[in-house]
Amino acid sequence: MDRRVVVLSLLTAACSAGSPKQSAGITHDSAGGNVAVAAAEPSAAANLLGRIPVLEYHVIAGEKNSLYTRTAASFRADLEEAYKRGYRPITIAQMLDKDFRDVPAGMSPVVAVFDDASDSQFRYVEQNGKLVIDPTSAVGIWMDFTKSHPGWKNRAVFCMLNGGAAGHNFFGDNPKFGGQKKEWRFLKVKWLSDQGFELCDHTLWHAKLNKYSDAVVQEQIARNAMGIDSAVPGYKIRTMALPYGLWPKNRPLASHGSWTDPKTGRTHSYNFEAVLEVSGGPALSPYDAKFDPKKINRIEAIGDDIRRQLARLDSTRTRFVASNSK
Ligand SMILES: [Zn+2]
Repeated sequence: MDRRVVVLSLLTAACSAGSPKQSAGITHDSAGGNVAVAAAEPSAAANLLGRIPVLEYHVIAGEKNSLYTRTAASFRADLEEAYKRGYRPITIAQMLDKDFRDVPAGMSPVVAVFDDASDSQFRYVEQNGKLVIDPTSAVGIWMDFTKSHPGWKNRAVFCMLNGGAAGHNFFGDNPKFGGQKKEWRFLKVKWLSDQGFELCDHTLWHAKLNKYSDAVVQEQIARNAMGIDSAVPGYKIRTMALPYGLWPKNRPLASHGSWTDPKTGRTHSYNFEAVLEVSGGPALSPYDAKFDPKKINRIEAIGDDIRRQLARLDSTRTRFVASNSK
């Protein structure tokens, strides 16, 4: 393992607040692997108070799954599993808006979130002078999946860093990282937005927000928002994901604050509607009175957890099921 891989592993491993032990313990799945895999029930009665799985991905690469790395095959299998069970993707923004137009009646919404902006998620390759999406990167796999799975749209969330170590800067800022070029960064972010994916703030370089002053917390978040705005001018960021799942000491600063650039004297504000945790199981429905958009739970893509959580939502009949009108 070379040094780069070690650094990358450390960064991605650090993404979650949970230690490996804690993460393994958040399956909330006492049924374990004994849950029968029920077929999707497209004719299921509407359940607008049901749960919505928000899946959390980090690095999509390698030959073997580990805590924060999922193989391309496993990632694709996750998408197949969700599709087979009657899930269709939406964004967090759609969840906030109770916009389920992409989810046919009797089917269920799922949200896929990609954290940390590694090149494994979105890689370009140059072919005959043109930029082509690497089919082995997460975005490449997603796009291929949409072609063979009707109704699976470009709805996912990218919680990005724009100054992270080891190339975690809008999907790679140096050929050292999957052959990616610095000048491709904004193209990728813009392309995602144009395609209907949601852009999400994940701080400048993945700072542990609980360890820093209010000023640094706001700088970390605001400078990430500024980076996104540079790539997609005027883009309204509505969602942020807490690095490591750690809240700043002054919790409201996760979603609302400002930073004044000492170089220009200009003040940059941010005001997000949703804050994503790193774990906690399927999220509450936005129709649920207890739904708190500033604290949305996710399911980490670890081992068999996604399949088990989806199986459990079916066996307990607790999954969100869209109605005709929404
Ligand atoms: Zn992260």
